[in-house]
Amino acid sequence: MIIVILIIIYSSIGIALLQRSVVSIDMGGTKVLAAVLNSEEGIIASVKKPTNPNSSKSEYIGILANIIYDVINEACIKEKHIEAICLGVPGSVNPYTGVIGLAPNLDLADFNIKDKLQEKVSIPVLVENDVNLGALGIKNFGVGKKAVNMLSVFIGTGIGGGLILDGKIYRGSKFVAGEIGHVLVDKNGPICGCGNRGCFETIASRTAIVNKIINDIKSGKKSELTDIVKAGDRIKSKSLANAVTNDDKVVIKRISDGCDVIGGVLASLSNFMNFDMIVLGGGMIEALANFMLPKIEIAFYNHVLNTSAEGLKILPSKLGDDAAIWGGIALAEEFLGVKV
Ligand SMILES: [Zn+2]
Repeated sequence: MIIVILIIIYSSIGIALLQRSVVSIDMGGTKVLAAVLNSEEGIIASVKKPTNPNSSKSEYIGILANIIYDVINEACIKEKHIEAICLGVPGSVNPYTGVIGLAPNLDLADFNIKDKLQEKVSIPVLVENDVNLGALGIKNFGVGKKAVNMLSVFIGTGIGGGLILDGKIYRGSKFVAGEIGHVLVDKNGPICGCGNRGCFETIASRTAIVNKIINDIKSGKKSELTDIVKAGDRIKSKSLANAVTNDDKVVIKRISDGCDVIGGVLASLSNFMNFDMIVLGGGMIEALANFMLPKIEIAFYNHVLNTSAEGLKILPSKLGDDAAIWGGIALAEEFLGVKV
């Protein structure tokens, strides 16, 4: 009996000693989300902090360093049990050097964020584009586990895409692969944040759809979002979902038009790449998956080549805001060879 108890105590101590974790950080223009996690226990602790979009580079690094130690304390584990800090950057980034390329929402272009943060923390720092991390999270811990060639698309403020090819993340020659939001849809369309006209995200992102709804309301069409528009408040995905439930014609029309474009673009890319899975995520899909997915699928199957669509699955992500956080575990394995 005593021996059995001793064995149980010994093995639980052993597991506790062996179980390592990573700190994953999702950087945003207005907030930073950090979590301690591992594949056994999942997310152990998380901390969210607001950031000022006008912060200097050194202020931003300071915020990141603080949130790392805050979340480690929150998780009640020792720093030596953290194998890596995995930073998800909302822009293109070279994960080998750590230099950020394009980062339209943060003033961090041409900045070596990996080296600068490494000066403040002793745990190895890894960096990756946030959408790529989301794709890695979905592939390794979400609905994409069985996918071999997978496109993940996140529809929200903009539209981001991540590619898994032959089971691995595909980054491209200059680490900007997957920029689906800047695929040309209408050469006479609205001007995009990238400077071009008519990019996919200027037509089918939540921002684009909401702008069209606002114009409809301002031109006199009736909608339950009229009060929000008059007050100048932001229209969130939740409000769009409520309006759809309440059969709001303006909102239903604009979102349906968006789904039509999304389905067409996904079909074009599918014809080009022959995926076996397309995973949709982001705030808009989370709030409206039941309404949007069937409409996206109709447009998709209208345009896709039959053979290209054979066996292909289109699924909602289900990992929510945590997709990129989960991706940190896969990044630590790829770059440091550690399994956590
Ligand atoms: Zn663009």
